Amino acid sequence: MAILDRIETMGHEQVVFFQDPKVGLKAIVAIHDTTLGSALGGCRFWNYKKEDDALIDVLRLSRGMTYKASIANLDLGGGKSVIIGDPNKLKSEEFFRSFGRCIDSLGGRYITAEDVNVGVADINNVAKETSHVVGVTSRKGGSGDPSPFTALGVFSGIKACVKYRLKKDTLKDIKVAVQGLGSVGKNLCHLLFEEGAQIIVSDIDGTRVSDMCASYKARSVAVDDIHRVDADVFSPCALGGVFDGNTISQLNCPIVAGGANNQLLDEQEDGLRLKEKGILYAPDYVINAGGLINVSYEIRGYDIAKSTKDTKNIYNTLMDIFTVSEKRNIPTHKASDYLAEKRIRDKQRLKHV
Ligand code: NAD
Repeated sequence: MAILDRIETMGHEQVVFFQDPKVGLKAIVAIHDTTLGSALGGCRFWNYKKEDDALIDVLRLSRGMTYKASIANLDLGGGKSVIIGDPNKLKSEEFFRSFGRCIDSLGGRYITAEDVNVGVADINNVAKETSHVVGVTSRKGGSGDPSPFTALGVFSGIKACVKYRLKKDTLKDIKVAVQGLGSVGKNLCHLLFEEGAQIIVSDIDGTRVSDMCASYKARSVAVDDIHRVDADVFSPCALGGVFDGNTISQLNCPIVAGGANNQLLDEQEDGLRLKEKGILYAPDYVINAGGLINVSYEIRGYDIAKSTKDTKNIYNTLMDIFTVSEKRNIPTHKASDYLAEKRIRDKQRLKHV
């Protein structure tokens, strides 16, 4: 499909290509929608096989950010950037400063941050050339590692699901199966343990599993079994694409609520499959927005108390989504898309009054 046709189909406002031969930079910035505010989204550094793969990735990711910011009630739009190439060969201060100048030339329509293969040190170099960047180190007035906030949002989301489906106000003795014990998963286990939940874990990294078992009295199961254990909640916190017809048929829990991005392999089919199996699904981009909420406070002046309060509000957002889903008899991911789109439409209407 031609580039402009693709952009039109997905509803993007602007896509910008940058190159700087002096440092080997090739980057694409996609601004999906700025109705609610500047487009915020991280920068992914990946050795894409084809330029087209990079374009599809940045278009898809930036569109996702529009929905995530809208449902999180942030005055931000959706954007994302990708850098094409081998991070191990290309990364340097000059490289990221050059990227920073590209971002600066957009005048604040797009705000960048970390994503895959772009860390805090890289972002600090971007910040030497532009103020349109978040996720800088906490020593420089930034908000630091977002994952504790992502985990807090997931924890609040699990509480909402347990209240809605199991009618319980606390997670005491609730069985939660956590897949993936990285930055989000381990912080989540800590919060679950403090609340008295029973934790079941799995990770491909055995050391992480034994750490969680020792620290939080967790029980471990094999990597291939975590989604099918008998539990109240299955919480995917590793990779995307966890759910397809096969894994959904094996689920043995009434609730799915985890931090991983893009959990549904086929958004329409698998969202519907979960609903038809009677499983309450907390849409991934809603429940994992804590990191985005936290980083957004860098723009307004970082305030940890406000960021914590807003992250915990994911509980109420999910309650609204579940209510709409039940009333309209639609899958929960459809209900959240509806609410996110409604907020944007309402703002557009106001702009035209
Ligand atoms: P991470 O890389 O720190 O941790 C991922 C963990 O998953 C690792 O411990 C890894 O060994 C494990 N893992 C990989 N494959 C696995 C498998 N098949 N079974 C079990 N474990 C497996 O990543 P993270 O920052 O904790 O992010 C986890 C997920 O949450 C990702 O999908 C990420 O996109 C999403 N997310 C993270 C944040 C954040 O703030 N870090 C924000 C939003 C969304």
